[in-house]
Amino acid sequence: EPGLYVAATPIGNLKDITLRVIETLRAADLILCEDTRVTGKLLSAHGIKTPMKAYHDHNAARVRPEVLERLERGERLCLVSDAGTPLISDPGYKLVRAVRDAGLSVFTLPGPSAMVAALSIAGAPTDRFLFAGFLPVRSGARRTELEGLKPVPATLVFYESGPRLAACLADMAEVLGPRKVAVARELTKIHEEVREGLPAELSAVYMAEGAPKGEIVVIVHPPAEDAPDAADAEAIIAQLLEDHSI
Ligand code: SAM
Repeated sequence: EPGLYVAATPIGNLKDITLRVIETLRAADLILCEDTRVTGKLLSAHGIKTPMKAYHDHNAARVRPEVLERLERGERLCLVSDAGTPLISDPGYKLVRAVRDAGLSVFTLPGPSAMVAALSIAGAPTDRFLFAGFLPVRSGARRTELEGLKPVPATLVFYESGPRLAACLADMAEVLGPRKVAVARELTKIHEEVREGLPAELSAVYMAEGAPKGEIVVIVHPPAEDAPDAADAEAIIAQLLEDHSI
């Protein structure tokens, strides 16, 4: 069927690719990717010879009309990113928007995403979470962003780089206070690990050890719900007394 197929690719382990993604990449008329070298490796690992075209922030506006034209001609185009699910801290939002606005079809080929992979093993509450992507690089802007997120009654999920991790955790310690944090690193790869602690502790650890290598997801547990302040405690006791007609 003609349309844009948005396909998830591995976040490290090359075996994490669905049968449907392999079939669709093989059958597509064109694969839109961030970096043809990165996607080229994935294609050659599966013996796929479909032509590729780069679609990234710098050429997106120029490439989009051509993509729409090809879709209107009835072609099947596949969108992938370097790793994981397109549009999740990766290009593609404007393309999907434009394809929908043109009344053409968009199909999902779901698969890996680092944020879901991290949430699935970190042991933080997952009933409600806020994915915040990458925080600003500069400390001032990062703290402002964290201030805004502080009252959100949900688990917070961030993408971060090794060299910035310690400074980011230090800002979290200062702004968010002692909320439990999980640092998930190198998911699906040989050195996959999850480290837990308070932001101040973890920041000190990474400061001492030096910047960790590889790719990182930082998960912050929700603000404590089970620590009512004194006024809340009185109200709760009053309610209990009433409920039990003491
Ligand atoms: N679209 C991707 C997804 O669905 O996860 C994310 C792309 S974003 C540009 C790349 C960031 O994702 C990395 O900087 C890191 O924070 C996170 N990431 C990607 N692969 C990872 C992995 N194997 N382990 C931990 N984090 C990863």
